[in-house]
Amino acid sequence: FPALTDGPAERSEMGVPPDEVWGRAALRFGERSLTYGALSGAAGAVAARVAGAGRVAVWATPELETAVAVAGALLAGVAAVPLNPKSGGKELAHIVSDSAPAAVLTAPGAELPPELAHLTRIEVDAGARAASGAVGDGAACDGDPALVVYTSGTTGPPKGAVIPRRALAATLDALADAWQWTGDDVLVQGLPLFHVHGLVLGVLGPLRRGGSVRHLGRFSTEGVARELNDGATMLFGVPTMYHRIAEALPDDPGLAKALGRARLLVSGSAALPVHDHERILAATGRRVIERYGMTETLMNTSVRADGEPRAGTVGVPLPGVELRLVEDDGTELTALDGESVGEIQVRGPNLFTEYLNRPDATAAAFTADGWFRTGDMAVREADGYVRIVGRKATDLIKSGGYKIGAGEIENALLEHPGVREAAVTGEPDPDLGERIVAWIVPADPGSPPALEELAGHVARRLAPHKRPRVVRYLDALPRNDMGKIMKRALVADA
Ligand code: ATP
Ligand code: MG
Repeated sequence: FPALTDGPAERSEMGVPPDEVWGRAALRFGERSLTYGALSGAAGAVAARVAGAGRVAVWATPELETAVAVAGALLAGVAAVPLNPKSGGKELAHIVSDSAPAAVLTAPGAELPPELAHLTRIEVDAGARAASGAVGDGAACDGDPALVVYTSGTTGPPKGAVIPRRALAATLDALADAWQWTGDDVLVQGLPLFHVHGLVLGVLGPLRRGGSVRHLGRFSTEGVARELNDGATMLFGVPTMYHRIAEALPDDPGLAKALGRARLLVSGSAALPVHDHERILAATGRRVIERYGMTETLMNTSVRADGEPRAGTVGVPLPGVELRLVEDDGTELTALDGESVGEIQVRGPNLFTEYLNRPDATAAAFTADGWFRTGDMAVREADGYVRIVGRKATDLIKSGGYKIGAGEIENALLEHPGVREAAVTGEPDPDLGERIVAWIVPADPGSPPALEELAGHVARRLAPHKRPRVVRYLDALPRNDMGKIMKRALVADA
């Protein structure tokens, strides 16, 4: 669509007649779809209504109107603030007072909570047709805010990251290079539309390339299989979705066949457990590729389409992204030894400009020379692939003089057939500093694996200092709407 893709004029220079561009499929949500021409008209109508506003909120249900609303705001050069319709009243109230939108864009008839009652409401008409050339983004500059996206709230209250237009373009073009992403690709996804993954990669990504997106509304393995059998070429998902796929594969040969047809299976937003990676590989012959990003930085690294995916690695820095690993004392780690752990810091055109209304948090997030501190810890392997060890705040356990990443222990536990989900944390210990605690959701709640059995299992896989000292069983892990494990809630409950 005009705001982010080359318009018909450029396309025709590339040898594609304008009529063909505008007739191409852009978006499909369930039974409803829009061609590029129809999207341009509907987004143009939104743009005409929001032009001149500072910021607008978007009630980001997994519907066609959400995509049209964001496209319209981008077209008008107005920053969009996607809201999670499932967030609680307190969080919504905070986000709305923090971002002070001039209006909220919704699908027709959407029910809004009282926290949004004071906002002017604009219903998006996906069938509208703006007069062509009525509005344009000609006045918008590279550095102008395109989106304010609130972080997932995994480690604390969500922060509003101000994402400039240039960052969207930079990240999507870098991914196009890494994934050989073209206008012929058809993406299937079922992600929420109020975070970077579902909205930026999953909607704006295909639109920037002139390809199309089919959104499932609600993720299901059946929906994934149906769309892959019907011409979809890529699947984007979070690890909990690939976990559901891995669980369904043994009883569903049709799903394995469908996944085998995909050009790319991509996972991100959290670490994909090695066990799920391997089960999908065994059943389909396909490796899921991982990319690593954040709300604040959009995408940083990825395994390339022509690269070699390995379980547990997130590939190499994307074109234009500078990445370094830094020790606590500021020393840069240069060894590609798979062992030296440092914080990932990044620099590049993909970065956000600031946390809204949080100058202190913004200042604290950057080094004096302009590198963004991700708070994620990683090592680099011999070929330069980045392997994330975990978050500095919650996944790095200091026990017996060692710094131990939770992920490796979680991966070992997940290989046990009696373990459905696992999370590892550290808790204070008089001898060790911290002791390793395993939180386990058993595959069969009626008969969790015996402790000696689990101890034997980890002893065959992990060095003594990495073995959990305490095991706690529970019915489910606390997860947020991206399926990320909220470790602070686990620790608080202990
Ligand atoms: P908050 O910042 O509010 O605590 P959050 O960090 O989960 O929440 P996001 O910006 O949505 O919010 O997520 C970015 C984080 O997700 C990264 O810092 C990293 O810890 C994690 N992440 C993303 N992709 C991957 C991946 N492929 N492997 C491991 N971790 C990942
Ligand atoms: Mg974060």
